[in-house]
Amino acid sequence: MLSKTIEDAINAQVNAELWSAYLYLSMAHNFEADGKSGIANWFKVQFKEEQAHAEIFMNYINQRGGRVWLKPIDAVETEWATPLDAFKATLEHERKVTAMINNLYALAEAEHDYATREMLNWFISEQVEEEESAQQLIDKFTLIGNDGMGIYMLDQELAARVYNVPSPLATAE
Ligand code: MG
Repeated sequence: MLSKTIEDAINAQVNAELWSAYLYLSMAHNFEADGKSGIANWFKVQFKEEQAHAEIFMNYINQRGGRVWLKPIDAVETEWATPLDAFKATLEHERKVTAMINNLYALAEAEHDYATREMLNWFISEQVEEEESAQQLIDKFTLIGNDGMGIYMLDQELAARVYNVPSPLATAE
């Protein structure tokens, strides 16, 4: 059984993951409208991953006899002038999410909730990857600058990203 403190904290994380999903969907459509369908694809995959993160937390709450409480999702920005701006915003956001996961981990330790701490280990590794992939794309778009051919080629590269069901969901059944 989850303590009320942990239940509330994980519910807040569910909201944050859904907000992340909404942010990346907004970025996807910003670039869809801009004719950069590969970048749009990358953010659509990111959107699905964030939905999956929320689902993992919701499944966990239910598994532990808690209750999921869905709250309103705050509005997100709708325009980014360049891909570089969007990936910089992505990295900044993912760093905040990392801090949230770390706080949740510290809370689980303080509450002696070792099952929650164990569940969070996957997210700690996941955040390392999230920050790394955003940083790699910042590096690439910085290197390219305003070169149209470079942006075209990188857009093609990002069109190839496919969604893979995260392992905690793939093994949940
Ligand atoms: Mg996430």
